[in-house]
Amino acid sequence: MAVKRVIEGVHVVPMGMANAFLIEGDDGLTLIDAGFPGKAAAAFGAIRALGRSPDQLRHLIFTHGHPDHIGSAAAIVRETGARTYMHPLDIPVAESGGPFRPMRGAPGLLRQVMCKLFFHPDERLEPVAIDQPLTAGEILPIAGGIEVIHTPGHCAGQVAFLWRPGRMLFAGDVCMNIMGLGDPVGFESLDDGRASQRKLASLSFGAVGFGHGAPIARDASTRFHDKWGTGEARRQSAA
Ligand SMILES: [Zn+2]
Ligand SMILES: [Zn+2]
Repeated sequence: MAVKRVIEGVHVVPMGMANAFLIEGDDGLTLIDAGFPGKAAAAFGAIRALGRSPDQLRHLIFTHGHPDHIGSAAAIVRETGARTYMHPLDIPVAESGGPFRPMRGAPGLLRQVMCKLFFHPDERLEPVAIDQPLTAGEILPIAGGIEVIHTPGHCAGQVAFLWRPGRMLFAGDVCMNIMGLGDPVGFESLDDGRASQRKLASLSFGAVGFGHGAPIARDASTRFHDKWGTGEARRQSAA
């Protein structure tokens, strides 16, 4: 079963061109995102590969409400009873199962093509009920503390999570790491998306996981500073 450790306590779960992440805490397992539709078995396989059982999945938290991040959510919740969390701006789309707000391809030919290939606003999914709306700045008392950072742009309800015990950031689709660190495939608002990239570049973290592309296991915030940091943040990271 393909489950790969990123850092102690965090594994990446390949969900078909999209990543989900499992965090092992003293209070059970937490899954960040739920991949494309039809990928629930991949999540359960990953859980079993860690010597756990699906009923130990306690929390399912979403970076945002796009089909490649919530596609298997309903099936996973049915099997595990996990509690679900999402930013309020994306809850209506998750609970209706689509259609999705339109998004424009990010600058550059590769992303324009990928956006057309992988994002279909009129896609319909099995709806998933959200138990708890996320609040910007709150620290969820899960797995030792998960900070919620509102990072709109790609999607209005996009959030990033900072898992404090492991200093690992879960960036969702604020950016991706396919052929290098860069933009996601598209934006609802490019200006907001840039502001969110700068916001993440101002933070300090060791590892980062993306919705798409390979995670970075160490010194990740330096890479963000170099890419999106202000001059001040870049000088500090060089010092
Ligand atoms: Zn997305
Ligand atoms: Zn995505």
